[in-house]
Amino acid sequence: MTGHSWAVIGAGPAGIAAVGRLLDHGVAGDEIAWIDPDFAAGDFGTKWRAVPGNTHVSLFLDYLNASPSFRFAEAPHFELTDIDPGQTCLLGLVADPLMWISQHLRERVKSIRAVATELTLRNRRWLVRTADAEIEARNVILAVGSVPKKLHHPHLEEIPLEVALDPHKLAKLALEDATVAVFGSSHSSMVALPNLLDTPVREVVNFYRSPTKYAVYLGDQILFDDTGLKGNAAQWAREHIDGTYPERLERCRVDGPEFCEQLQACSHVVYTVGFTRRQLPATPQWGELEYDPANGILAPGLFGVGIAFPEYGIDSFGSGQYRIGLSKFMQRLNCALPLWLRYGT
Ligand SMILES: Cc1cc2nc3c(=O)[nH]c(=O)nc-3n(C[C@H](O)[C@H](O)[C@H](O)COP(=O)(O)OP(=O)(O)OC[C@H]3O[C@@H](n4cnc5c(N)ncnc54)[C@H](O)[C@@H]3O)c2cc1C
Repeated sequence: MTGHSWAVIGAGPAGIAAVGRLLDHGVAGDEIAWIDPDFAAGDFGTKWRAVPGNTHVSLFLDYLNASPSFRFAEAPHFELTDIDPGQTCLLGLVADPLMWISQHLRERVKSIRAVATELTLRNRRWLVRTADAEIEARNVILAVGSVPKKLHHPHLEEIPLEVALDPHKLAKLALEDATVAVFGSSHSSMVALPNLLDTPVREVVNFYRSPTKYAVYLGDQILFDDTGLKGNAAQWAREHIDGTYPERLERCRVDGPEFCEQLQACSHVVYTVGFTRRQLPATPQWGELEYDPANGILAPGLFGVGIAFPEYGIDSFGSGQYRIGLSKFMQRLNCALPLWLRYGT
């Protein structure tokens, strides 16, 4: 068994930020254990490369420049920096610098390719169990990410979200006779719908609950920053959902009179109805642990960051929203890490 001051579980954008900011705060690299099965920049690197992002490039650059330990000023040339900072981009362009940063951070800390399966607090130390090791740390940061939520329509063949959001993966499916149900009206919905309509599907039926919501840029503030559609997805929705439906697209309210009949006619389904936290390592001492959205604390010395543990904030217009996105994870760490450094076991 080996002892550390900190263990960071997860190497997506949030885990990368956590490791960078711990080093910035003077925690020695050999005091940090970093655990992930892949070290491939999390879902950005493995699932969402072909997805058009919903934030301006400037916010990704804010994240990449926020931690001196990222050494982004010394990075090789990345295509991301050629793009107008006021535009959006494919998420693969962000995954590339994330990979570069993660590779050099791994050389500074103790990186362990594994899945953390259990967390136990004993003698004022956390024990992180993996399939073949036990790692001891005074503090643990969980940055485990989220998975798409699903509804239960077992008679339909599911097209996984990561396939529906990637035109190349979608093109490999035989969808000629398919009628595809798409549940939701989120950013992912407005990427999946045009992708599906670009294939030879017979028809796409978009099942929705509420009106579309758009982010509005107002100088230094954004109305519906975390919940509104942005970029290409917003443009497509304005033209085709709140404008003229393209051929082969139907829409149906989930509580409308035609719901059952329309759904019965579908053969496939895509769920774009939000995300839910990935399964956490088991904590048998307490059962399921919850976090405090105000500060990310789960227990003494146990903290959460990233899409699985978002900050809840009220914007200047009075709307409450979970703050999700790379620059927001970094802002959360900037505020919370000084607290976490003092809330150990
Ligand atoms: C379709 C889509 C588009 C998005 N677009 C944007 C955008 O444009 N701009 C933006 O800022 N944000 C965007 N986001 C939101 C968010 O930034 C991403 O979801 C981001 O990937 C979240 O980072 P994360 O580090 O919290 O989680 P993840 O990227 O999911 O990383 C979690 C990591 O933890 C590892 N892990 C999980 N469990 C364990 C365990 N038990 N032990 C060890 N390792 C574990 C996983 O293998 C993974 O590597 C988007 C999200 C989605 C879904």
